[in-house]
Amino acid sequence: MKKILASLFGIAVVGAAAWWLFARGNSAPPGSAAGADAAAGLHEARWYEPLPNGLVHCRLCPNSCRLPEGKIGLCKVRKNVGGKLYTLSYGQLAAVHVDPIEKKPFYHVLPGAQAFSLATPGCNMRCLFCQNWEISQSFPWQVATQAATPEQVVDAALRSGAQAIAFTYSEPTIFYEYMLDIAKLAKAKGLKTLVVSNGYIEPGPLRELLPFIDAYKVDFKAFNPQFYVDLTGGRREPILEAMKIIRASGTWLEIVTLLVPGQNDGEDEIRELARWVKDNLGPDVPLHFSRFHPQHKLANLPPTPFETIVRAREIARAEGLHYVYTGNVPFPEGDSTRSPATGEIVVERKGYFVVRNALVDGVAPDGTPIPGIWK
Ligand code: SF4
Repeated sequence: MKKILASLFGIAVVGAAAWWLFARGNSAPPGSAAGADAAAGLHEARWYEPLPNGLVHCRLCPNSCRLPEGKIGLCKVRKNVGGKLYTLSYGQLAAVHVDPIEKKPFYHVLPGAQAFSLATPGCNMRCLFCQNWEISQSFPWQVATQAATPEQVVDAALRSGAQAIAFTYSEPTIFYEYMLDIAKLAKAKGLKTLVVSNGYIEPGPLRELLPFIDAYKVDFKAFNPQFYVDLTGGRREPILEAMKIIRASGTWLEIVTLLVPGQNDGEDEIRELARWVKDNLGPDVPLHFSRFHPQHKLANLPPTPFETIVRAREIARAEGLHYVYTGNVPFPEGDSTRSPATGEIVVERKGYFVVRNALVDGVAPDGTPIPGIWK
């Protein structure tokens, strides 16, 4: 997280163009009343309904908040004002950076491309192991933000040389309207659009969004539903449903599961997850297993053992998944894409970097088409 903010306020080389543009926007001092006012540049929300007695019912995510006048939803960014629901985070950037697309991670989308990545404050989950808790668990007036219209964001992305815009770092679902407006503009300008999400979104808004999204990465926290209840504040079932909807829509889907030691890394659970993916989404959906590092409210746990990550990949491959990757570990075998027909490496990576790409229009040298977005 510090790196993200450093790029916003300290001018990282790749982010310089974006910073120059956003520096002219409204910057709200963190924690101040002025910050609260600036953040309350209210934008009426989509996907809500008014109820009797001034209540509103937000139908954007499965938290399904029913809010009295003046109250803010669990995500910290949607507020009932006068019987209407407003988003407090529209146009309020808390983080901007240009990242390798592999860092999202997307391994079957434009290998080697750069993704103009952005976030606003807030999240609809409360994961104890959140990597970006400083912005995801904050109200908009508790963090420094930069104002930027969708037009400014798309313009900055084009200037940066990125091939894609990624909605990421916190939870894009909670800045839905901003994301939707940016995505429509970005698509019109030839940029790819990427969502990096926990998948905790209702089917209606998801279906409305998907035509403007090229690729969706779901951080699927665990196959054990109790893990969701105990460690995230969310529920598993709506996310399974969302992944089916994404897959059926034609938007490219990749899944990442962070393996937290002793919590969701049992071999049986990993086997169940792989089977579910194969049976419900098909063997071509990439599944990434990522290493946990102690932080936020689970700073007492050790990092995930290297062997656990490697073993998870073996299990998922043995269950029939074609593309299983590893993340946050030095394991080139788990970084590279192989043809399922011959086992030949077709995209060789080291960490986030593409060393060699043998695909031609998505087809391997052995003639096997590799699913994804390749141009
Ligand atoms: S988006 Fe926010 S306000 Fe709406 S249901 Fe989800 S947590 Fe509640």
